Amino acid sequence: MVFEIPPTSAAATPRPLWLGIGGVMLALLVACLVGILSRIGNFPAFWPANAVLLGLLLRHAHLARRPVTWACMWLVYVLADLVTGASLFVALTLNTANIVGVLCGWLFLYRQGIQKQGFQRQRAVLVMFCGCLLYAVSSALVGTWPSHVAFGTPLWRVLLMWIATEFCNCVLVLPVILSAPRGWVWQWKSPVNFHSWHYVLPLGALLLTEVLSRVFHGPGSVAFVIPSLVWCGLAYGVFATAVINFVFGIAKLLAVSLGALVVYSPDNVMDVASFRAGLSLLTLAPLAVASIQVLHNQTLQRLKQAVNHDFLTGALARRAFMDRGQKLLARLQQESRSVAVLMVDLDHFKQINDRFGHAQGDVVLQKFVELGHAALRPGDLLGRMGGEEFALVLPDADAEQAQRVGQRIGGLMREHPFELDDGQVLHVTVSMGVCAVSAGQRPIPALEVLLSCADRALYRAKESGRDSICCMPPPQAAARAAAA
Ligand code: GH3
Ligand code: MG
Ligand code: MG
Repeated sequence: MVFEIPPTSAAATPRPLWLGIGGVMLALLVACLVGILSRIGNFPAFWPANAVLLGLLLRHAHLARRPVTWACMWLVYVLADLVTGASLFVALTLNTANIVGVLCGWLFLYRQGIQKQGFQRQRAVLVMFCGCLLYAVSSALVGTWPSHVAFGTPLWRVLLMWIATEFCNCVLVLPVILSAPRGWVWQWKSPVNFHSWHYVLPLGALLLTEVLSRVFHGPGSVAFVIPSLVWCGLAYGVFATAVINFVFGIAKLLAVSLGALVVYSPDNVMDVASFRAGLSLLTLAPLAVASIQVLHNQTLQRLKQAVNHDFLTGALARRAFMDRGQKLLARLQQESRSVAVLMVDLDHFKQINDRFGHAQGDVVLQKFVELGHAALRPGDLLGRMGGEEFALVLPDADAEQAQRVGQRIGGLMREHPFELDDGQVLHVTVSMGVCAVSAGQRPIPALEVLLSCADRALYRAKESGRDSICCMPPPQAAARAAAA
């Protein structure tokens, strides 16, 4: 069987490779300069470049599969260092360490499929944690010795600081890049509804706990924010939580580096490394909560969809149709609006099954619902009542308008005959019954009453030879007409 395939929008033309590589180079250059500007002593307070590169190359994996991309990125690192006064030895060796680290992290995370599934699976945060650690350790192993030679810092000190710092940078930056919505920034929808005060509560709680941690300053104060960060994770989804983690983490790092927040002795390398590692581990909990919450919402959504919709056709299932229909009628009654109810039955459907098979019959049912939806407005309801019988509720429609909608659906069925494998063409017709309540007619009868009235009208349409529409007044109107 062959259907007309609706014209789809023209396939998006892929962007030229040089444009992609150029874009990533530019982003990397900016990130390098941010890191270089944040330098305090020999170490940058915050070095986002490697995590930015790792994130971008995971999101645009086709670029990472070309060696030229890696060569270009290495060049950007080296040039950024050279133009800001680093020695050639430092620029060449430390940036090789950066590239090696990013490559190791990329290979691991790419194989784990994080670029495809993002945070939409339970172990996503664990995978990201391992990827960040692998990146930090591998870059540290390559960069420790040159750094020791260049700056004279003891080897173990460089190694410890490098791993802790790079792990921290990666854990703060990478989730933001990986979970950022597609498209341009100005096209993104805000995950936080700032017009509703209860949406802002988790953010308020985060600020409050941060203030409290300053007031009651002590060894445990760094953990004060955990409940409110977890609350943010529950309320805002993965991307917003990643941004909150990022802002919170960077603010803490800068405050400590600039001496505004004293939580350890800056000369004690174990303290510094422990603080950075602790800070990064702290942000993983809200991220894990956010990602599980998203999974939970998606599962609920799928479950609702499965319960409320007919599996074969996608029309509303009978129960959901009745529930939504009743609610709609109650609203229309309150607002004194008109409504029409239709019962639709496919003609000689049993013959279609008998002659062309059950699977063919299923296709006819699916096509009917597809065309029905195309003929309806967004507020109309279409439900499958059973077998090849469907019902519609059309708000703000009188009998005449409802008949026009019915004719439109019947017309669409005529315009879309089913072409069979043996070249035969199958025409399917429908019969319909309409029961409409005008705007002034109160109260609106219950949905069951309107449906049985439309069913009687449908029976008449069948009796009059099928492929037709019949109308019946609702019971009260019929009683009034009889009394007059
Ligand atoms: P009429 O014109 O009077 O409505 O005749 P009809 O053959 O359409 O009506 P009838 O009630 O005799 O037959 C309905 C058929 O629909 C019988 C049943 O096997 C078939 N049917 C019910 N549910 C499904 C389904 O999900 N898929 C398919 N393919 N057939 C179904
Ligand atoms: Mg039928
Ligand atoms: Mg029937």
